[in-house]
Amino acid sequence: MPDYSIGVDMGGTNLRIAAISTDGQLLEKITLGVKVAMGRDYVIGEMCDAIHRLTEQYRGTGRFVGAGIGVPGIIDMERGMMRKSANLPGWSDYPVRDEIERRLGAKVFLDNDANVAALGEKWLGAGRDADNMAMITLGTGIGGAIVLNGKVFYGMSGMAGEFGHVTVVPDGVPCGCGNRGCAERYASATAVVRMAREAIESGQAPELAKAASSDAEFSAKSIYNLAIQGDAAAQRIFERFGEVLGILLADLVNILDLDMFVIGGGVVSAWDAFAPRMFSELRERSLVYAASAPDDAMIKKGASAQIANYTKKKTIITQALLGSDAGLYGAARIPASQ
Ligand SMILES: [Zn+2]
Repeated sequence: MPDYSIGVDMGGTNLRIAAISTDGQLLEKITLGVKVAMGRDYVIGEMCDAIHRLTEQYRGTGRFVGAGIGVPGIIDMERGMMRKSANLPGWSDYPVRDEIERRLGAKVFLDNDANVAALGEKWLGAGRDADNMAMITLGTGIGGAIVLNGKVFYGMSGMAGEFGHVTVVPDGVPCGCGNRGCAERYASATAVVRMAREAIESGQAPELAKAASSDAEFSAKSIYNLAIQGDAAAQRIFERFGEVLGILLADLVNILDLDMFVIGGGVVSAWDAFAPRMFSELRERSLVYAASAPDDAMIKKGASAQIANYTKKKTIITQALLGSDAGLYGAARIPASQ
């Protein structure tokens, strides 16, 4: 039995914890109905109790090497604390890492959720053969991470890879970050719903209006369903989504020239609605991609064909493979790789 570590995903809707062996086998996964918003002390208590249960259970089968925790926010890596965030009142200026370390009596690492998802995909997912990769996570916003030679590139302040707040429309929609026209205002679940509501208000989207009034949970998924059924207004929204994502990717490919760009997060399931426009935009705008794009036939064969093609020095842009488990694997990878 190999050594194992614990990966924790502190998501918006629940708290997930997994015991994963250092060779990448999932031993056990626990989902607790605990949200970060339920308060710091409660969440830390429930998390540590669950981790204790797992380490008791696997005691004697292998050595517990520590825990990695993916957190939805910006981390002060040196102090193991969260930086101030409107979404996480009570979590900043508190020694989260040290407190959990004290309770577990083991090494604990905090990292941003986008970074741990990228580490998971690098370890066992789409990026496993790529030396250098970036990951774009499409969810309520856009998360980003850059992994160079297997390690997250943090930048000076730990904030590298904020792809969601790259300006794509100079005079665009205001963003919570203080800027206007950020990528995540056009290419995220929140953005899809906003664009749909605007289309409804303009009176140009009767099917969307009907769906919005009958569907209590009018979401990016309902709008995607209309798009694949052929509704022109819903399709225009995903065209805009793809256009903006293509612009963002063109910039990233030109600047970074990485082997692979992995696109994950819940909204990646709308791939067939936004990807054609994303790729056409990318081809048009990126000199580096024009020189390194795989041929169209390869792109159409999907993720695995593209990964197989990777050794021929092509820029691979592909969907993530691990889904919502990427963050669990990536978080567990941090203590395992120290
Ligand atoms: Zn922004």
